[in-house]
Amino acid sequence: MGRRGEFRVSVSKDYLVFASAHFITFAGHRCEGLHGHNYRASVTIEGRLNEESWFVFDFVELKRIMRRLCDEIDHLVLLPTKSDRIQVREEGETVTVAVDERPRYVFPRRDCALLPIPNTTVEMLAEMLIDRLRATLEQSAAPGLTAIEMEVEENFGQSATCRVVLSPT
Ligand SMILES: [Zn+2]
Repeated sequence: MGRRGEFRVSVSKDYLVFASAHFITFAGHRCEGLHGHNYRASVTIEGRLNEESWFVFDFVELKRIMRRLCDEIDHLVLLPTKSDRIQVREEGETVTVAVDERPRYVFPRRDCALLPIPNTTVEMLAEMLIDRLRATLEQSAAPGLTAIEMEVEENFGQSATCRVVLSPT
């Protein structure tokens, strides 16, 4: 079999959304108040053709995984656990949140998604979704994949994209 082109497959669906609350810190002492977005994710994966199926990756499977990843953080307060400035503490059924050690919010634990990122920017959410997608893809044995690109939109026309090149397996 001769060398073939490189392929990309993309999934961008109306249901790949998560309506979530968050706030971010900025450089210096600025910090937003709590607010929400209807976030939307779209993903592109690149790789070699699977020469039994002649596709890069099964769309049905990719849509299913992406839907699950969005559902996991839908209708929750997104809180960063790797922030230097936002302190998130689980205390039984509640989560207390302080900014620069000043108490700010108390949420029911079930309404929060504690995320291992330094700030809940769309950049960091995109990277986190790639990490979660990768973890799932590794279980489903998709050896030909070479890169994943994730776009997370927080408003119409306002999004960030993260691209991760996968090491060859
Ligand atoms: Zn925001």
